[in-house]
Amino acid sequence: MTLSVDTVKVVALPSDQDASGRTLGDEEIAAISEALRSGTLTCTKGRFTKEFEKRFAELMGLRHAHAVSSGTAAIHAAIAAIDPEPGEEIITTPITDMGALTPILYQGAIPVFADVDPLTGNVTAKTIAERLSDRTRAIVVTHLFGNPCDLTGILEVARPRGVPVIEDCAQAFEARHRGQKVGTFGAIGCFSMQQGKHITTGEGGIVVTDDADLARRMYLFLNKAWGYGDPNPDHYFLALNYRLSELQGAVAGSQLHKLPWVARRRQELAAQLTERLRDLEGIEVPRVAEGDECTWWKYALRVDPQLVPGGAVGLAQRLKRWGVASAPRYIQKPAFQCRIFREQATFGRSRWPFPLARPEAVDYSVERFPGVFDYLEHVLVLPFNERYTEAHLDQLADAVRQARQP
Ligand SMILES: *Cc1c(COP(=O)(O)O)cnc(C)c1O
Repeated sequence: MTLSVDTVKVVALPSDQDASGRTLGDEEIAAISEALRSGTLTCTKGRFTKEFEKRFAELMGLRHAHAVSSGTAAIHAAIAAIDPEPGEEIITTPITDMGALTPILYQGAIPVFADVDPLTGNVTAKTIAERLSDRTRAIVVTHLFGNPCDLTGILEVARPRGVPVIEDCAQAFEARHRGQKVGTFGAIGCFSMQQGKHITTGEGGIVVTDDADLARRMYLFLNKAWGYGDPNPDHYFLALNYRLSELQGAVAGSQLHKLPWVARRRQELAAQLTERLRDLEGIEVPRVAEGDECTWWKYALRVDPQLVPGGAVGLAQRLKRWGVASAPRYIQKPAFQCRIFREQATFGRSRWPFPLARPEAVDYSVERFPGVFDYLEHVLVLPFNERYTEAHLDQLADAVRQARQP
């Protein structure tokens, strides 16, 4: 029997924007109460944030982790630790959160956008290699929707040149490339704990590394570069306060217990959803490289506009009737088409640091990004959550099946 909108009761899917799709509960309440009662709400004096950092480093199998106030702060601390000279270039992706890009400009470096694989939306070794120059100072990769980039290939390009790779794992907690966790391949791994991420403190983030010097520089950067505990402390260099509070640290520690379950559950559910959607005409299920493990921040379909009227946009319109809020085009447009980049809207009228850029580094011509435009034209991002039940998956799959036709 095929179901229609009229015959099924449309139930709301659990959402990561409220309690229905979050794992916040008694453990968090107990921890945050304890933090409050202690009267110590700064992580410089309290224990909760420090413990969270220690346990997160253990979970990643790395020596150093520093909690920060957002995923944006995590990327900023990573870039500041690399300490590029003004005008040096950082190769990255135009399909990411703006919080992964603006820190590059704040540190005086030039984001140089690489093209992406039209099937995954991820940067590749090849697209990165095309953008390398003698000014390349670092590479930032985003594991889009929890699907690992080809870190093996990317490191083969980066390592011989001594160019550090920063992994933006904001959407990819617990994901693995060839059996190894993402965030442990590059020089630094960055995570976000914003409301909609795998674990949350409302706002928050964390950076990880095995490199003691980078860890020290990140620690200083998020502490106004004040040398806490040093014999003659000073403010050593230009830096900010990006600390996580103890209230957030308490929640983060409790959330961390649940992370392995959250990631595993999302993998199980995604496998089931893929089974249900695999053979639908006009729809391609997500591709994860052989041997990799995606942890499914979202579930991104590729829609064939030849077979589905209106393509991804049309499908999204019709999915609304089924109570499914999806995002065609994901971020709508590549980052370089946002006003920040189009008009170089930065500090006053200076356009700083763009006047330092090579013309090619800021050439955003459409023909240089065939994969980006192909990807955005076809992608439809479905919401995804560890609290989905079989019934939710059935409803989601039914909705997609039926919404393919007007
Ligand atoms: C969410 C996100 C960020 C920014 O994190 P915030 O905590 O929102 O500042 C950066 N990069 C990616 C890929 C993200 O998804």
